Amino acid sequence: MTGSFRVDRREFVVSATAAAAFLGINSRMVFAESPAAADLMAKGYYSFKVGDIEVTTISDGIWQKPHDPGFIKNATVEETKAALTAAGLPSESVPIPFTVTVVRTGGRTIMFDSGTGAQLAPTAGKLAANMAAAGIDAGKIDMVVITHFHPDHIFGLMQKETNAQVYPDAQIVVPKKELAWWTDPGVLAKLPENRQGLAKRIQSTLPTWKNLTAAEDGADVAPGIVAVGAYGHTPGHTTYIVGSGKDQLVVLADITNIPALFVRHPEWHAAFDGDPVMAEASRRRMFDRVIADNVIMTGYHFGMPGAGRIQKDGNGYAYVPLA
Ligand SMILES: [Zn+2]
Repeated sequence: MTGSFRVDRREFVVSATAAAAFLGINSRMVFAESPAAADLMAKGYYSFKVGDIEVTTISDGIWQKPHDPGFIKNATVEETKAALTAAGLPSESVPIPFTVTVVRTGGRTIMFDSGTGAQLAPTAGKLAANMAAAGIDAGKIDMVVITHFHPDHIFGLMQKETNAQVYPDAQIVVPKKELAWWTDPGVLAKLPENRQGLAKRIQSTLPTWKNLTAAEDGADVAPGIVAVGAYGHTPGHTTYIVGSGKDQLVVLADITNIPALFVRHPEWHAAFDGDPVMAEASRRRMFDRVIADNVIMTGYHFGMPGAGRIQKDGNGYAYVPLA
């Protein structure tokens, strides 16, 4: 890393701090795009421990989403850009990172969600390479636990052309409610045209897999890992609590998209949320829970390190990353 990069970065943070002050936003949010975060993004993974649970967050890459007035139903593109700037992020597009959580607990290696499978954005699809860099053998993953069936979370389970399983030897655990919704024969009629292909791909793959298990809300999907339904983003969107003794990690998945927009503004309704009112209620409930328990959580779209704590901050919340 060059000295000039550091200088640019400092100027960038100063301007972001000024923007934060102008908007009345806590300057703590500036750390969302700290040099440490940029370095970790380049490295591709981050490891830490919660009690005796070994946790590794692995970057699958990032999607630079072009601005679109329909993206946030109750915020303008200008407000979106201002919030990105206030968090120290570039504002020319919406940077949406993908970050998979892997835990080693009770002698098993368990991965939450599966990345994009290099099937969504040319700048994503780095999971396999970064997993190898982190020293995790994809062939030795015992279980893949899925939070919901959006493409960025399940396409990594299947090969692009053939739909062949990427993890044929792992147990694949999915939320029962999510599976039931997407495989209902009537679902196509309820979906916009741009989601119908997804439903068809789900219907022709997941239910045929012998290694697939559907978990009820509240079920123990593995020793110490409990499914906690948090619906709204999708009908069966599910978070997971990983516990070992008194220690807990919460896998929040898509309870919120990027922190700069939706942790700071939990009331903003992203187009990705199927039922935005229910999604906001689930978001606030889960945020209040991880705050009350003071636990570390991971977020799929939080960028590296992909893990940290949530704090109350005025009318919204603040994300305080580890590292
Ligand atoms: Zn997602």
